[in-house]
Amino acid sequence: MEIKNIYVTRPCLPSLEEYTELLRRIWESKTLTNSGPFHQEFERALAEHLGVKYVAIFANGTLALITALQALRITGEVITTPFSFVATTHSIWWNGIKPVFADITGSDYNIDPVRIESAITPKTTAILPVHVYGNPCNVEAIQKIARTYGLRVIYDAAHAFDVRINGDSVLNFGDLSVLSFHATKVFNTVEGGAIVCHDEETKQRIDYLKNFGYDGETTVIAPGINAKMNELQAAYGLLQLKSVRSCIESRKLVAYKYRELLKGVSGIRCLQDIQGVGHNYGHFPILVEKSNYGVSRDALYDFLRQRNIFPRKYFYPLISNFPTYMGLDSAQPSNLPVANEAAKNVLCLPIYPDLDLGTVATISGLIKTFGRKTV
Ligand SMILES: *Cc1c(COP(=O)(O)O)cnc(C)c1O
Repeated sequence: MEIKNIYVTRPCLPSLEEYTELLRRIWESKTLTNSGPFHQEFERALAEHLGVKYVAIFANGTLALITALQALRITGEVITTPFSFVATTHSIWWNGIKPVFADITGSDYNIDPVRIESAITPKTTAILPVHVYGNPCNVEAIQKIARTYGLRVIYDAAHAFDVRINGDSVLNFGDLSVLSFHATKVFNTVEGGAIVCHDEETKQRIDYLKNFGYDGETTVIAPGINAKMNELQAAYGLLQLKSVRSCIESRKLVAYKYRELLKGVSGIRCLQDIQGVGHNYGHFPILVEKSNYGVSRDALYDFLRQRNIFPRKYFYPLISNFPTYMGLDSAQPSNLPVANEAAKNVLCLPIYPDLDLGTVATISGLIKTFGRKTV
C-alpha cells in the first residue's frame, strides 16, 4: 500500500473562524504585545486549566528555562539529564553555569535520583530534571534530595502539559516548572512557553525578568531579557485550551492501538501507563531490543523512512555526546551507560490526534514483519 508522508507529530490548530474573530479584536485595539488583555487572560486560563497557582507565559520554552534559572539566581553547578532535547542543557550553559550529567533509569528514561545524589558537589545549587515523554520523574525522591542538600529544583516540563499524579498537576512539584508550547508539543501557541511557580513574589520577579527587568517605566530591577509572548499567540493559545483535552483523548486512542498491535512483537517494548498518572500521550517511544527483534533501531528507522513513515530518534545523539558538552567529566559515556543505551535503542513513532487508527495498524504491521523473530 502506498502511504503518504506520516511525520512523528502534527499540531492541533484552533478553529480558523474563532481565531479570525480574536484577530479582529486585536486589530481594533492595536494592542499587539506588552502584557495586553489576551496575555493576561491566557495566563489566568492556563493556571486554572492546569491546576497551578501562577503561570508566566513566554515567547518560547528555551527562554523560559533560561529565565527560570535567573529567577532563582542559580549559580555554580546544576545536575541534569543527558537524555533530553538540547535546550535543557543549553539553558544552563547560557547562564554561565556548569551542567553536570547524571544517568537515567532504564524503566522511564528519567534522571535517576540515586545518580543525582552521587553527582552533588559543594558547588551544586540546583537540579534540572526533565519529565521525559511526559512521564513524571520520581518527584518524591528528588524533593527529598533537594531538601537534604538545600538544592533548588526546576523541572523541564516541556513534555508534561496536563500530566497529573493522583489528580494533582505534576507542575506543582519542585520550585519551578517550565513548559514549551512549540508546534510539536501536545499544546502549542506556534512558538511559546511558560514558567509555573507557586508564590506571587516569584511570579513578579519572573514577569520583570521577561520584560528587560522593568518594574514600571523607569526602574530596572535586574538585567532581564525580552521573552514576552505577543497578543496574537496568546489569543491562539486561549482558543487551543478549549480543545486540548479532546486532543489528548485522541492521542490516547492512538497509543492504546499501538500497544495492542505491538504486544506480541518480540524485542519491541512499549512504555505502559503508570498507576495514578494522567498521561498526555505526547510521544510514543518504543525500545528496540536487537537481540530479540533481530534488527537494530537504526535499521527499523531506515526501513520505515523508505516507506514514507518518519519516526524520530528522540533522544539521539545524547546531549552529553554533542561536541559542546562531551569534554565535561560527567559527559563520559562510562558515567552514563543507561542513557547511552536508550539513545541507541529508542524510537518515537508517529502520534497525533488525527492520526487514523488504520495508519497505526499499517505502521505496526510493518514493524512486526520487519523483525526476524516475530511471534
Ligand atoms: C521542546 C523542548 C524544549 C524547548 O522548547 P522551545 O519552546 O522549543 O524553546 C526544552 N526542553 C525539552 C525537553 C523540549 O522537548
